[in-house]
Amino acid sequence: MIYMEFTYIENASLAPYCSMKAGGNAKFLVLPKNEEELISAIDFFRTKGEKYIVVGNCSNLLFQDSGYDGAVIITSGIRGLSIENNIITAFCGETLSSLARFACEHSLTGLEFCYGIPGTVGGAVYMNAGAYGGEMSQRFVRGRFLNENGDIVTIELNDMDFGYRKSRLNYEKLIMLSASFSAELGNADEIKIIMDGLMAKRKSSQPLEYPSCGSAFKRPVGHFAGALIEQCGLKGLTVGGAQVSEKHAGFIINRENATASDVIALLNLVSDTVFEKTGVRLEPEIRIID
Ligand SMILES: Cc1cc2nc3c(=O)[nH]c(=O)nc-3n(C[C@H](O)[C@H](O)[C@H](O)COP(=O)(O)OP(=O)(O)OC[C@H]3O[C@@H](n4cnc5c(N)ncnc54)[C@H](O)[C@@H]3O)c2cc1C
Repeated sequence: MIYMEFTYIENASLAPYCSMKAGGNAKFLVLPKNEEELISAIDFFRTKGEKYIVVGNCSNLLFQDSGYDGAVIITSGIRGLSIENNIITAFCGETLSSLARFACEHSLTGLEFCYGIPGTVGGAVYMNAGAYGGEMSQRFVRGRFLNENGDIVTIELNDMDFGYRKSRLNYEKLIMLSASFSAELGNADEIKIIMDGLMAKRKSSQPLEYPSCGSAFKRPVGHFAGALIEQCGLKGLTVGGAQVSEKHAGFIINRENATASDVIALLNLVSDTVFEKTGVRLEPEIRIID
């Protein structure tokens, strides 16, 4: 293993890096440019006894206003895509949209659903992200992960324990370094039409003009979170600067200078109200980091 120098910033504001544009400061912020820097940073903070978290585009998480008392390691600079026998391999910080575009450029179909999800491949595997009938688990072949002992291990699909918006990474400290995804030969023009269509759907139905974390709640079995929220008359409900989107009730948006506490209070209020009125308990999809 080659150990690389890396730099960190002390007491750095996290909000600019988070799609909700809220949250406090990190004791340390690291922006590794490649896998070696990422591994060195983890090793450094682990040895120092500091807690750390590896994140991607922070498009599904919220740091509290009190910040993070450790190192936040953002992978969005660790990029790169390659292809062999219709299997695409992506480094953890590559975006899902680039993955979809790369597949399209190579006339490969199956990854169109990724287009427009604003996360990284690492965050998407952690969350088993999905949209419009597709999800990462349908395309994941294997990944390379750094385990708690500092060893790099390969994990195949069958050992990933994927479920709805969850994976083995939710309960085991495994850092994804890169992953491979399968696709099939198709027609590039047709693939592009599908991707453009999905993007148009997003733009017309989602409040992309405001900061958010996408769907605030997981889909409860047999229901749609947005429909339940709307049915309870909660569209437009506001706590501080956070609001239930008027455009898509499943989204909580940062309408005006919302704090993380505003967002969390609104998540709780919506969940409690929907439970009282319908008996269905909504579970946040947004990860709140302590
Ligand atoms: C406008 C909007 C639309 C969205 N639409 C969708 C959608 O259609 N479908 C959907 O599923 N989601 C959607 N999302 C949510 C989000 O984009 C996805 O969950 C995405 O996969 C998160 O990726 P990320 O890189 O931002 O992860 P982050 O939010 O940075 O992290 C999420 C989790 O993954 C962990 N993680 C990140 N990288 C790694 C790594 N390399 N190794 C181990 N753990 C890691 C983090 O620690 C964290 O626990 C949307 C969000 C927004 C803002």
